[in-house]
Amino acid sequence: MNVEEGAPTIRILDPATVNQIAAGEVIERPASVIKELVENAIDAGALTIRIDITSVQGGIAAMKVTDDGDGMSPADAGLAFVPHATSKITALEDLFSIHTLGFRGEALASIAAIAKVTLITKPRGSSRASGIRIVVVGGAIKTKGETGAPEGTSVLVEELFFNTPARKKFQKSLNTELARIHGILEGLCLACPQISFRLFHNNREQLVTERTTRPLDTITRIFGNEYARELLPVAADLPFMRISGYVSRPALSRKDHDRILVAINGRYISSPPVTTAVREGYGTLLPHGRYPVAFLSLAIDTRLVDINVHPTKKEVRLTKEREIAEAVSDAIRAALAAGDLIPGAALPRPAHRELDPGESTDRPEPGVAEPAVTYCAGTIAPAAPAAGLSPFTETTHAGTASTDHRLRQTELASGVQPVTAVVPPMDVIGQIGGIYILAEAADGELIIIDQHAAHERIFYEQVSRSMAARHAQELLVPVIIHRPPKDAAILRSLIPVLAQEGVVIEEFGSGSFLVRAVPALMGKIEGTETIDDLVSDLIHKDPERPVSNRERLTRIIACRSAIKAGTVCTHEQCQRIINQLRATKTPFTCPHGRPTMVRFTRAKLDEMFGRT
Ligand code: ADP
Ligand code: MG
Repeated sequence: MNVEEGAPTIRILDPATVNQIAAGEVIERPASVIKELVENAIDAGALTIRIDITSVQGGIAAMKVTDDGDGMSPADAGLAFVPHATSKITALEDLFSIHTLGFRGEALASIAAIAKVTLITKPRGSSRASGIRIVVVGGAIKTKGETGAPEGTSVLVEELFFNTPARKKFQKSLNTELARIHGILEGLCLACPQISFRLFHNNREQLVTERTTRPLDTITRIFGNEYARELLPVAADLPFMRISGYVSRPALSRKDHDRILVAINGRYISSPPVTTAVREGYGTLLPHGRYPVAFLSLAIDTRLVDINVHPTKKEVRLTKEREIAEAVSDAIRAALAAGDLIPGAALPRPAHRELDPGESTDRPEPGVAEPAVTYCAGTIAPAAPAAGLSPFTETTHAGTASTDHRLRQTELASGVQPVTAVVPPMDVIGQIGGIYILAEAADGELIIIDQHAAHERIFYEQVSRSMAARHAQELLVPVIIHRPPKDAAILRSLIPVLAQEGVVIEEFGSGSFLVRAVPALMGKIEGTETIDDLVSDLIHKDPERPVSNRERLTRIIACRSAIKAGTVCTHEQCQRIINQLRATKTPFTCPHGRPTMVRFTRAKLDEMFGRT
C-alpha cells in the first residue's frame, strides 16, 4: 500500500483509553487505592479516617475510606473525577512549594477509570442535611443525586480492575495485598500522629491509632512497647532542614532496612541516600549487614524537594542531597552518643533481639558475619586453662607483661580524652574464662565486659584518631611473606595505601614480599604469623563491605593488637580496660558491631531470683 495515500495510522487516543493507561501508573494494586484515598482525606484536614476492607473468596471486593474532613460542594464533587482536576495547585510555580500530599489531580480519575466508585460528600459547616452522591463506573458518571450524609467524605471502591483483566490477574494473594495495605497505613499513621486512623477488615478491627501530639505514642501503638523502649530521640535544626524522630539502640537491629522509615515534609518516601545515611550514622555500632530501626521526619525547605518524580510520589529528588545525608548521619551519631547503649540482659533472648516475629531466627551469632571469625572474636588458642572466677594470681609473668604492654599502648594521657558520662563507673569483681570481666556499677548493677571487644574498641579509636599511631615502626627483622599470584597482585596494588598507614612492604619477586615496618601502635608484634594474618585480612576483602582501606586497616590493627579473649588479666588490668573503655567515644560495641558490655540491672537480677 502506498503510504502517502492511506489513512493516517497515528490516532489520538480517546479519553477513556488515556485514563486507563494513566491509571496503570498510579494504581498498581489495591494498596495504591488506599494510599490515594487516605492521602486525600489527610489533605482535606480530617481528624479521623476510617478504612474498611471487604474481602470475599480470597479477593478484595470493596475498599472504603471515610473521613471527617472538608468535604466537597456538589460542583467540586463532579469535578473531582476529571483527570488533572485538583484544588491543590493552580500553576507550575506551586509545584515547588507543595504542602499537600496530592497535587496531580490524577487519583480519583484513575481509580474511577478502572473500578466502580461511589462518592458521598458534604462540605464542613454545610447548613443542609443532605450531601451529594456520585457513582462512576469505568470513568463514566452513572448516577448523581442528593443523599443524607454527615460532613466529610466517603469513597467506596468496588470491582477494581474490572476492565483491565491483565492487571487483575497480576494481583497477589489476599494476604499479600492486605499486608501491603497495612504497610501503607503504618507510614501514613506515623506521618500524621495528629489524626486517628482505624482500619477494619470484614468489620474486624486491624489497626487503630489515637490522635496524639507525641509521635512515640503512635510508634508504640503500631509496633509495641518493645520497640519504643529501644528508641532514642533524634533532633537537629539546620538552616534548610529540621530533623526529628527516633532511632533504635544498636541492640534492636534488623537484617533489612525496611524499618528505616523516612518522611520528607510529611510524606513517607523511599530515598536510598537517606537510608544509607541513617545506617552510616551507626558506623561501627552495628555488625556488617545489620540495619537499625528508625522513624525520621525531615522538614526540608520545599524548594529543595522535587516530589514530582513519579506518579505515585514514592520518590523524591533532593537538591543538596549530600548535605542532607550528612546532616542525617550527624544527627543520628549525636543521638547515639547521648544515649545509654549497653544492652540489658533480656534472658532468655540473645542480646541482639529480633522483634519481628516474621523474621527468621537464622541470624548468625554477632560477629560470625565477619570474614575472619577468629580475629573478630579475638580468641587465642588454646583458651586459658582456668575457667571460673579468676583469683588474679595464676598469670605467668610473661603473659602479664605482654598484657601490660598492650594496655600501656592504649593508656590515655589523663585529661586528653575526658571520660564520657555514658558508661557508669565500675568496680571489677573478677574475670571468667579469661574472656569476660565482671564488674559492679552503682545500684548493684552487674556489668559483663568482653575484654577483647572492649580493648579492640579502645585501640580502634586511638588508631583512627591519632596520626602518630600510624607512624611506621621498623621491625628489627623484616618478615618475609609469600603469596600466590592472584593475592600477590592485590597486595602489590595495596602497597602505596599501606605505606601511608604505616605498613611498609616491599616486593622482591615471585610472590615474595618483605614487611619492613608496621604501625607503631601495633607495638611488639608477635612474629611472622601475625603479620602474615594481617596481610591476609587485607587481601581478602569482603566485596559487600564498602569500607575504605584505611578503615579496614584500622579495624584489623585494632583487632590484632587488642588483648585476646583467653588472656588472663590481673585485677588492675581489668580495671584499666574498663577505665580506658569509659574514655572512648563509642564504648558500646567493638569496631565490628559486637557489644562490648551487657548489663544485668538490680531489678533484672531480682526478677530472675523471684525477689520482686
Ligand atoms: P489530587 O489529590 O492530586 O488533587 P485527586 O484526584 O486525588 O487529586 O483528587 C481530586 C480533588 O478532589 C482534590 O484536589 C480535592 O479537591 C478533591 N478531593 C478528593 N478527595 C477528597 C476528600 N476526601 N475530601 C475533600 N476533597 C477531596
Ligand atoms: Mg489525591
